[in-house]
Amino acid sequence: MSNVLITGASRGIGAATARLFAREGWDVAINYNKSRTEAEALAAELSELGVRAVPIQADVSVPEQAERLVREAEAALGPLDAVICNAGIALPQQLLTDTTPEQWRRLMSANLDGMFYVLKAAIPGLVRQKRGAIVTVSSMWGLTGGSCEAPYSAAKAGVIGLTKALAKELGPSNIRVNCVAPGVIATDMNAHLSPEDLSALGEEAPLCRIGRPEEVAQAVVFLASDRASFITGQVLSVDGGMVI
Ligand code: NAP
Repeated sequence: MSNVLITGASRGIGAATARLFAREGWDVAINYNKSRTEAEALAAELSELGVRAVPIQADVSVPEQAERLVREAEAALGPLDAVICNAGIALPQQLLTDTTPEQWRRLMSANLDGMFYVLKAAIPGLVRQKRGAIVTVSSMWGLTGGSCEAPYSAAKAGVIGLTKALAKELGPSNIRVNCVAPGVIATDMNAHLSPEDLSALGEEAPLCRIGRPEEVAQAVVFLASDRASFITGQVLSVDGGMVI
């Protein structure tokens, strides 16, 4: 039996990933920040599958809360086998010159600093076991850069650098570190876009549509599982071919 901590698992890609892990028999720590109701409902749903599913509140952008999150997940499930760093936010699309220092900091804190805090707390436990898998969630914008998405692109490019560096640092401890780079996925993060805008975005991809959170979950669970036992330091795009 394996267990996994997923940050930002109350909604969207994180929730779909929690569901897939549970369906494959993993115990799951469901981190949430504000969406308590959703996280508790998801935990109840996954418990019905016969796995342990525990909701844990923590704002990963606060170092003490990220540390407590990892300790509570370990206390509930035992030493962690996998950590999925998925929590993230987006800013309104705007020029870099219109971005305030507070917006920049908020974006970096949630999307990049939070990963550092969670992984700093979780890695010693993985190293002690001499096994484990980490999957980070970046974005196609981290690979290509997006106009009017400069802070988000910078944070997501940082996630890729962090992933590759950690793959080298932790490989000798038998810990694999990989990244998933989604394209446009139908979650609350894109809820501000009209159906017409979403479909126009989808048309830009060779597969001519936007993606579903369940499709990203498949890649995350694969990379965390033993099926990817010789894969580390990689960025797997799940974007309908948007970045080729
Ligand atoms: P979403 O539906 O908006 O969900 C975001 C999740 O992150 C929520 O569970 C939220 O928790 C959590 N979260 C945000 N800030 C947090 C914090 N400080 N501490 C703990 N949890 C926090 O977004 P999504 O589309 O599923 O995105 C998931 C990841 O995929 C993000 O990293 C995002 O950048 C990336 N991504 C998304 C897309 C896309 O098109 N949707 C594309 C590329 C990459 P609460 O609700 O509990 O606060």
